Order: sequence, then C-alpha cells, then structure tokens
Amino acid sequence: MDCLFCKIAAGDIPSDKVYEDNQILAFRDINPQAPVHVLVIPRTHIASADEVTADNSALVARIFACIPQIAKKVGLANGYRVITNCGEDGCQSVKHLHFHILGGKKLTENMG
Ligand code: 5GP
Ligand code: ZN
Repeated sequence: MDCLFCKIAAGDIPSDKVYEDNQILAFRDINPQAPVHVLVIPRTHIASADEVTADNSALVARIFACIPQIAKKVGLANGYRVITNCGEDGCQSVKHLHFHILGGKKLTENMG
C-alpha cells in the first residue's frame, strides 16, 4: 500500500522518533504547528478515526495509554492538545490514523 505513515512506521522513510513500541510510533511533525508537535500512529494501517472498530480499537487505547509518557518526554509539563483530523471536512491530509499532540505554548481556544 502506498501510505506515507506505513512507510514511516516501517522505517522506509526516516522520522524524528520520540517513542516506539511494537504497536505504535510517535514522531515529530515535519511542519510543526506549535513549539512541540508530535504525531502518534498505530503501526497497523487504519485509514482514519472513521475506520475505528471494536476489532482495532485496542490500538487507539494503546495510543492514549502512551500519550502521557510521550508528552512528558517532549517536555509538555503544562498541558497539551490531542487532535485527530478525519476525512475531507476534518482536513485529514494523510490517510493513516494519527493523533497530533500539540503544546509548548498556550494554544488558542479556537478549534474550528
Ligand atoms: P493531517 O493533516 O492529516 O491531520 O496531518 C498530517 C500531518 O503529517 C501534517 O501535520 C504534516 O505536517 C505531517 N507530515 C506530512 N508528511 C510528513 C512526513 O514525511 N514526515 C513527518 N514527520 N510529518 C509529515
Ligand atoms: Zn498506512
């Protein structure tokens, strides 16, 4: 499958990794939207939040179980925002489920 984040997960495309285990990977966004901007992905291809099911939701739980330690590792001691863009109206550009962790400054209240 021609998927950018599958290639990053496989190590075929390099990334600035901040956390990895056998199920998930976290790496810095190439075009950061905040002083700290990390992406967390499942190694398994899931196209978006709209493709989460009872069969694969354990991977989402795994991501959220790891987010506190990832946030701590990249210095987000004062809070952060977790976002997933989904589909056309959600402005998802990479069609492999990913959660943005944004922080390192007081973020804007506007999320729309
Ligand atoms: P989306 O718009 O799908 O929610 O987020 C995709 C994110 O992936 C964007 O923030 C974009 O900057 C990031 N991105 C796109 N290509 C690469 C890449 O090759 N490496 C890294 N580290 N991030 C990427
Ligand atoms: Zn993929």
